[in-house]
Amino acid sequence: MALFTPLRRWQPAFHPFVRLSAGSRLLTLVERVIKGPLFGCRMCGNCLLQETAFICHMECPKGIRNGPCGGVHDGYCYVDPKRRCAWHLINERARRLHREHKLLEVLPPVDWDRAGTETWGEVVKKVRETGLRNIMMPSARKGKSAGDVLEEEVFRPIRQPLWWSGDSEYHAPAVAEPQSHLERELGSGRFVITVEVTPPVSAATGKLEEKIKLLKPFVSGINFTDGSSAVPRMSSAACSAVAASLGADPVMQVSARDNNRNSLQSQAVGANAIGVYNILCLSGDSPRVGPKPHSSMNILDVDSVQMLWILRRMRDEGIYLDGRELKNRPHLFLGAATAPFAQEPYMQALRIRKKINAGAQFIQTNLVFDPDSLDPWLEQLDKEGLLDKVFILAGITPLRSMRLAHYLNDHIPGVTIPEEIMKRLSRAGDGFAEESIALTVENLRRLRKKQGISGVHIMPLGWETVVPLIIEKSE
Ligand code: SF4
Repeated sequence: MALFTPLRRWQPAFHPFVRLSAGSRLLTLVERVIKGPLFGCRMCGNCLLQETAFICHMECPKGIRNGPCGGVHDGYCYVDPKRRCAWHLINERARRLHREHKLLEVLPPVDWDRAGTETWGEVVKKVRETGLRNIMMPSARKGKSAGDVLEEEVFRPIRQPLWWSGDSEYHAPAVAEPQSHLERELGSGRFVITVEVTPPVSAATGKLEEKIKLLKPFVSGINFTDGSSAVPRMSSAACSAVAASLGADPVMQVSARDNNRNSLQSQAVGANAIGVYNILCLSGDSPRVGPKPHSSMNILDVDSVQMLWILRRMRDEGIYLDGRELKNRPHLFLGAATAPFAQEPYMQALRIRKKINAGAQFIQTNLVFDPDSLDPWLEQLDKEGLLDKVFILAGITPLRSMRLAHYLNDHIPGVTIPEEIMKRLSRAGDGFAEESIALTVENLRRLRKKQGISGVHIMPLGWETVVPLIIEKSE
């Protein structure tokens, strides 16, 4: 019911401190009545319709402004499986309208002072400043199309507030020196292995320390998830600090779900103070998949692409988002997550390009059970010249039980376990563990040979004890 779209629950409220004139209030009402039914507008006051093929990105329950997230599955949203993914629709329409290039720009976070207010007044003001003649008359445009003039002089200044300078270009890291052990290892050309450890649910660190000590000699980096599945547990920052104190190189994961722009920047600076230099930015699972009572929504302040952009500028330009100078720039090796099979390779490559442009230097993928299934995606990345700009680590896991295999295959978006593997595991009976380890070793060996893959990221899902064995057998 498009007519009622603006009234749905994700609509931002008027900012309590915004005082609107009578004219603005009228314009807001008119805009709400027209843009709601036409574009599904939520009146965020920071309109991106020009960039999003005229579909409101606020349809996305995570409010992602540079989407989609890795949860899109067959074009549907995992938060509300009956709903088409807003960003999938945007991508499709942008492609139909030949506006894909518009999707590459790293779009700014919401300026919350504008939430709930109109944007047309500003468009009219900018058009008047630019002058109708300059827009309409070919002789005054100096070889540019009317669309170009509108984009440069009207829409871009509105879309890009003073404190943001997002664009669609690649920015190579300004620092040549490796920022962390993991970056050094990847830069050396060696096949690199990282491992993921799920933080403990209590304050005790004994088991965590045991796992770190067990894994450290075999891997180049240890990731600590940040409230995965939206379940509260020990923070990734605390686990990373424990790992750093034990001489391991931690990868601190930071989810957009639990962080706003301020906490992100504070975390990055704080992480450096405790010897944590690898930060992986991700959207984070929706609170809707976590335990009840559910939090009503995500923080919806920054998305993973914006996080990368903000952190890259802190490192390379030495500035906070608000423009304050950072006297001692943080050392940061920036990572992102991706689900190579979430959408068709073309669209996934577009998403990766945006993350790389924003600042991603390494990418860890969702679980891969058939290395050859990565080929179309890798070919697309290669075609777009992206493989030279990023290190890709393919996600793998040793399956601990048949139940887990079915769960991953049936319920996790973007994860597919080939039938052949399911058959081998179900035939294994009492030898299930050995068969699962053998399969993981085979998978790792095949990935070692794959062009474009710099390493693997092992997600043992609680079965950390077999990781050393798998790595040794795969060599
Ligand atoms: S799949 Fe992700 S990006 Fe798409 S609508 Fe759902 S939450 Fe938003």
